Amino acid sequence: DIKTDENVQFSDLAISELTQQSLQKAGFVKPSPIQLQTLPLALLGIDLLIQAKSGTGKTLVFSITALEFVQTIDEDPSMITTKVIMLAPTREIAQQIVQVIKTIKQPECFVHTFIGGTALKDDQNHLKKCHIAVGTPGRIEELLRLKYLRADTIRLLVLDEADVLLCKEFQDQINSIFSYMPSNKQVLLASATYPEQIVRFSERYMRDMTCIRLVDSESPSLVGIQQFFIVIPYHPLESHLFEQKVSLLLRLLPQLKFRQCVIFSNLRMRSSAVCERIKALGYETTFTSSSLAQNRRTKAMRDMYKHKCQILVTTDLTSRGIDLDYVDFVISMDLPNDHETYLHRIGRAGRFGAFGCALTIVSHGDERKQLESIENEYKLNLIEIDEGNRFQLL
Ligand code: ADP
Ligand code: MG
Repeated sequence: DIKTDENVQFSDLAISELTQQSLQKAGFVKPSPIQLQTLPLALLGIDLLIQAKSGTGKTLVFSITALEFVQTIDEDPSMITTKVIMLAPTREIAQQIVQVIKTIKQPECFVHTFIGGTALKDDQNHLKKCHIAVGTPGRIEELLRLKYLRADTIRLLVLDEADVLLCKEFQDQINSIFSYMPSNKQVLLASATYPEQIVRFSERYMRDMTCIRLVDSESPSLVGIQQFFIVIPYHPLESHLFEQKVSLLLRLLPQLKFRQCVIFSNLRMRSSAVCERIKALGYETTFTSSSLAQNRRTKAMRDMYKHKCQILVTTDLTSRGIDLDYVDFVISMDLPNDHETYLHRIGRAGRFGAFGCALTIVSHGDERKQLESIENEYKLNLIEIDEGNRFQLL
């Protein structure tokens, strides 16, 4: 039999029997295109930049690679050492990665989340028995500095949403983390977007980085997502403008069909009020933002993963990386601060080839113009709608 990309299965790749069985049990049979292109190289220990659109399965690439490291090494069970560190820019993504690994790991393999907003003492205990440490840069750096987390046994370092981790906000922490790492570790970077200047910057950390970029430069956004926008009249008072958008949103929602919906806004204080008003319409709705206590953030995401809530009102805290398989509608109450984030926001719908809709509400003037420049930059095809010609389209 000649194997074409179409019919390759995970069992055709050089993955251990154990991992193959658990992949199968978790329902993963055929590798996605990015998995097929990168897994063989990652398993050979090559440093990689893995770039592919959102929802294409990048998490499994580094998770499988990590499990192969851990599960194929014979070790004294009384001397468990940490072999893999995975970094993510938000606590939510770190927690999600751990959930993914848990679905395919062996019982003897230990994985744990290390994030801010939790007790350091607990982390110290977990690290006594942890093969794979997944966390945010601040907490991981702290654990390395305190020597709770031993660096000399690390074989693999993963940066998910690498372009965010390599930009200014995290630079000091990332530099510091790399300085603790042994020189012979493997590095994997994953992201959907990857600006050129960051590619150059990341070469500083990597031995011989191989870039696998499965991105169509003609249209970096997902084909399965229909993008719409609606324009409201301009008003100089921000609070007035927001109120207009909210009342529009409340009128529109009952006309939209969705399984789960994510509503983004830059204004986190106002968003929590929006959540309450949507609830009053009868939707199970939850809200999250970085200013909430960690247990509330965790609960909000859990309610979405478990489909207990139908709508998530949020900030760009969750515009990247979050994988909610029921989300088929994304609404933006405003435009994000940078253009890439627009692609990440709409990428919350249409996971793994599913179809979805994205609706952006903009005001006349600057906001409208800014949306147009996003549209031009990425050669998108946005359809304008208004309350009159309504949502026969949606
Ligand atoms: P990315 O990080 O590239 O945005 P994720 O790793 O979050 O994407 O994966 C998106 C979704 O695709 C997840 O729900 C995941 O379970 C699913 N998925 C990944 N790989 C496969 C596969 N080979 N077969 C079926 N589903 C997959
Ligand atoms: Mg991801």
